[in-house]
Amino acid sequence: MEYIKSKIRDVYDFPSKGIVFKDLTTAFKDPRCLHIIGWDLSQIYRDKGVTKVVGIESRGFIGGSILAFELGAGFVPARKPGKLPADTVSETYQKEYGTDTIEMHRDAITPDDIVVLHDDVLATGGTMAAAYNLVKSMNPKKIYINFIIEITALNGRANLPADAEVTSLIKY
Ligand code: AMP
Repeated sequence: MEYIKSKIRDVYDFPSKGIVFKDLTTAFKDPRCLHIIGWDLSQIYRDKGVTKVVGIESRGFIGGSILAFELGAGFVPARKPGKLPADTVSETYQKEYGTDTIEMHRDAITPDDIVVLHDDVLATGGTMAAAYNLVKSMNPKKIYINFIIEITALNGRANLPADAEVTSLIKY
């Protein structure tokens, strides 16, 4: 875990003043680090019968795809509005300034699915809570929530559903 931490870059004042951005591109470009991340993520869900991993655009696509591959599960993208070609369901949520929306294909998840929702970083939890609502509306058997990094000071877990099992590899 210390090795992964050593490869994560802190970028100050990105995307706006006062934010310390946890940049995982420096971890993903390191072959050993990418391998460890994929392996450690998959170990959490190895015996849980996961059938789909939902990755949140865009940084959640990277770890989400690796996790799906490792588990022998399918991969589903949750995207920004207007990007998915077929019939979609969408959820709008509150951000610090204004609102944001994410979409998924309406037929992406079925009631026999066991789902892991994945994003790279848990900050306030608003994005993940919206993604959770979308997946929940498709009635899967079970939903797990997963991050590579959790910024504990922002207490994002408080915005996530109490019945969801939330895991993160690295806490700051
Ligand atoms: P949230 O506030 O949890 O809804 O986060 C919104 C999105 O922005 C998530 O997809 C995170 O990956 C990303 N994000 C928010 N804050 C940071 C940060 N400090 N470093 C890296 N990514 C962040």
